[in-house]
Amino acid sequence: MSSTDLPANVHVLRPRKVSLSEKLDLFLDEHGLELKEAAKRPDPSRPKSINGNALVCAACGEAEYLTREYCRCGHYLRGQLEDEYCAWENQVHIEHSELADAIALKIKPLRYLFAVGLPFLVGPMLYLNFWADSFTFYPLLWIAPGILIGGIAALTERFLMRPLEASAHFLNTYSIETFIDQRFFQPRVIDQ
Ligand SMILES: [Zn+2]
Repeated sequence: MSSTDLPANVHVLRPRKVSLSEKLDLFLDEHGLELKEAAKRPDPSRPKSINGNALVCAACGEAEYLTREYCRCGHYLRGQLEDEYCAWENQVHIEHSELADAIALKIKPLRYLFAVGLPFLVGPMLYLNFWADSFTFYPLLWIAPGILIGGIAALTERFLMRPLEASAHFLNTYSIETFIDQRFFQPRVIDQ
């Protein structure tokens, strides 16, 4: 049937009132013509992604450059960054004291171990000093287990203390630059 070969009653045909496909209408209702979607399109003048050079504005949720003092929505970004830095700093101190407590618990039994080894060191010395008639090497053999126990206790303590020393070093050397570097890898959300 050609386009010119229309049915005789074409003039009585009326525009379709029902949709061609209800599914298409539903799809358009759900996904199309949504103004919010259009508004979410990235602003080319904003940072493209959250990296070390950007932060998310707590007021409008948009990414903004770190060097800007105010967000384009008017939010004071410098203040937000300082708030985040204070919260991070608190967290660093809390984590350090938690680590110190955990390590102190582990080290406590070592002190007892050292106390167990001490008589082996002191005993032979006292014996040689006060009770031995003549110097003999025999009491010195008792010193060996004392040295062994003391050495193990001291080495283990030094090994256990290492993470705490690293943490203390970090505590003495961090700055806001450290925070800005770490922020990208460990983002912390601040409650408003
Ligand atoms: Zn903003």
